[in-house]
Amino acid sequence: MRPGIDVECREVGLRDGLQIQQVFFATEGKIAWLTAEAAAGMPEIEVCSFVPPKLLPQFADNQEVVAAALAIDGAFISALAPNLKGAQNAFKAGIHKLNYVTSVSESHNMANVRRTVDESVADFERIVAARNEASGDTLLAVGLSTALGCTIEGPVALDAVLKLAERFVAAGADEISVADTVGYANPVQVKEMFNAVIGEFGGRVAVAAHFHDTRGLGLANVFAALEAGCTRFDASLAGLGGCPFAPHATGNIVMDDLVFLLEGAGLKTGVDLDALVKIRDIITANLPDEPLNGMYAKAGPPKGFVPASKAA
Ligand code: ZN
Repeated sequence: MRPGIDVECREVGLRDGLQIQQVFFATEGKIAWLTAEAAAGMPEIEVCSFVPPKLLPQFADNQEVVAAALAIDGAFISALAPNLKGAQNAFKAGIHKLNYVTSVSESHNMANVRRTVDESVADFERIVAARNEASGDTLLAVGLSTALGCTIEGPVALDAVLKLAERFVAAGADEISVADTVGYANPVQVKEMFNAVIGEFGGRVAVAAHFHDTRGLGLANVFAALEAGCTRFDASLAGLGGCPFAPHATGNIVMDDLVFLLEGAGLKTGVDLDALVKIRDIITANLPDEPLNGMYAKAGPPKGFVPASKAA
């Protein structure tokens, strides 16, 4: 955790938000976005995915984007890699943290990364070894997708999440991120999940939450996870990134609304909310047809609102 803040937000819009975006977001636009967000105080920015350009042309400029991001003084930069090859390229690029994903449900993992869960764990072990050889100091985060429900298998057992988390922690993960990839979760379920995960692993690794707002419960789930002791949250500016399985459905929770929630609740994020909202214009300039989500940006601050980060 950065000194002086209570909750760490991670911007995932440049990766999670753009990965299903068919329109190429110009490289200068991506750099303008991440530069402005770092200046607004965002503690971590996930800037791209290390995948072959023919698979996801959106990230064909990942080397350039990462180089620009790493040149920003004080910025903490992460990127996603779905396999060893991607991870090796990410280490070479010099990122601060690598985000790796595995679905808790076997069939979703097969659909998403075309591997069994066992194969995903084995690949992660090779990534840990490669990290130790390459740089040694890149942090490794593992996102457990479909931890709170799966579009293929339905409900996912809490015990299955804990067992898989244990395997990744044992393999050398520095962070476990519990993801409601498809927006199925409710706050009661989230509280139970995070109580269990933090109780089991909180003393050993960082625990983060990745929620989607597909059914409108994203921020309620954030609050439930907060109450269970979670202090790391993913979100994307303007909620960029839909759900590939539900056209017009909202994807990631909205960063601006998340910061408003946290700052209003007296929790310092270190993020300047006014500056953050202005960055939405960069998305509009680069993706003019993309509808932006977020209620705070529409309604503005309540009269007399003082964000916790700005309170005396
Ligand atoms: Zn997401």
